[in-house]
Amino acid sequence: MTQGTASPSRAHDLRTWLDHLQSTDRLAVARENVPLQHHLAAVAKRLDGKQAVFFPAPDGHRIPVVSGFMSRREWIAEALGVSCQELLPRFRQAVDQPLPWCELEAGQARCQEVVLEDIDLHRQLPIPTHSEHDSGPYLTAGLLIARNPCTGVQNVSIHRIQVHTHDRMALLMLPRHALTYYRMAEERGEALPVAIAIGVDPLTMLASQAITPIDHDELEIAGALHGSPLPVVKCLSNDVRVPADAEIIIEGHIPPGIREPEGPFGEFPKYYSSREEREIIVVDRITHRRAPIFHTIIPAEMEHLLLGAIPREASLLAHLQRSFPTVDDVHLSIGGVGRYHLFIKFRKQREGEAKNLILCAFGAHYDIKHVVVVDNDVDVHNPQQVEWAIATRFQADRDLVVIGGAQGSVLDPSTTLSVQTTDGAPPPPHLQGIGAKMGLDATKPLVYQEHIFTKVRVPGEDSIDLEQEIIPQARVDLLVASAP
Ligand code: MN
Repeated sequence: MTQGTASPSRAHDLRTWLDHLQSTDRLAVARENVPLQHHLAAVAKRLDGKQAVFFPAPDGHRIPVVSGFMSRREWIAEALGVSCQELLPRFRQAVDQPLPWCELEAGQARCQEVVLEDIDLHRQLPIPTHSEHDSGPYLTAGLLIARNPCTGVQNVSIHRIQVHTHDRMALLMLPRHALTYYRMAEERGEALPVAIAIGVDPLTMLASQAITPIDHDELEIAGALHGSPLPVVKCLSNDVRVPADAEIIIEGHIPPGIREPEGPFGEFPKYYSSREEREIIVVDRITHRRAPIFHTIIPAEMEHLLLGAIPREASLLAHLQRSFPTVDDVHLSIGGVGRYHLFIKFRKQREGEAKNLILCAFGAHYDIKHVVVVDNDVDVHNPQQVEWAIATRFQADRDLVVIGGAQGSVLDPSTTLSVQTTDGAPPPPHLQGIGAKMGLDATKPLVYQEHIFTKVRVPGEDSIDLEQEIIPQARVDLLVASAP
């Protein structure tokens, strides 16, 4: 494995990165007064993957909104100061060698320059409503930071958070670390203190999505990605430590025993998840920088998909390489919403190995639904090449693996048909996301006759120098011969 080279990052903080995007024509500036309901998301969606968008005074609000500043794989690599090929090894290195944060004294952190105690979320923050059937305004790019109630170790994760009233929000916590901490607090009849950091740099955003065991503070991974300890500061109303350079911090707590309806909300699979009773956050305080910037992620668009996909790819690659050292690369395709379709590139050494590899991948994360294994002459980042391998190296009666009744993503709408409920209501939580896994061995045989599996190439196609072969601006007169 190559170690990522630590060339200087262009993403030391959010504003440096936005300024870099602006200086390279990758930051569009919208007109003032763009409506926060649907219109802002529509503009950002149209520019998805082409330009980030900065919205000054949306709906006349004093705080501007930015979206889409991590919406290409190349941009994320650039923010880390590495090539696309070095992206996964670099991220994995940071996960393996986290760097403890350094704590600033109270009053030194930019995220606490302004303190708001009389909370009114609707008035104080420019919170957009994104998709057609969303139940209202949502925070989509907030890093939820909580502490293990027993040990104090922190966890960082992104959740969709629906604004209910002036100081109450509801959130979706999937069965991961934040929910575990909350259950620990709730069992003791206590609230879980939390903070939500909005407007952090790209590397801290990416670190928040690392797939790590519980009780690994993702802010330490952020420090490792930065190459220096992340400055943090203690919240004013609780003990949570937050990134000191964040634009906005919402301090609050998740009280025990309270659930309120949340949803529907358009999620990463590009479908709505249903309205259900969920945990709530009561806001205690808001702090922010002077003239802060609010970040929103447009659901199911590139920033959302890549933020989930790249850290997952890094941990999947590490997981698979433990048992299969000849795995070269993996990719969670965008068509597979950055979660469900895993393409694996590897050097097969024995005929049965690809199927073992498929089974290993299914166990690595419940979101993985379809796996395609290809040889190392196929680029897993190019869906056309993967399809070519399936078209020419795969036979369904021989190379297909199907496993029914397994745990899949609860947000995959096709899984709901696998469980029948009498009244047509959503299945209870313990039956949600049950579905099938499918693996395709699209590798060619190790031994074959003549050139039957030799990929066609023209000698010289990669090595000739076109400047030597093509005459600049030359034209031929093609019509003269056919003149009457
Ligand atoms: Mn975690």
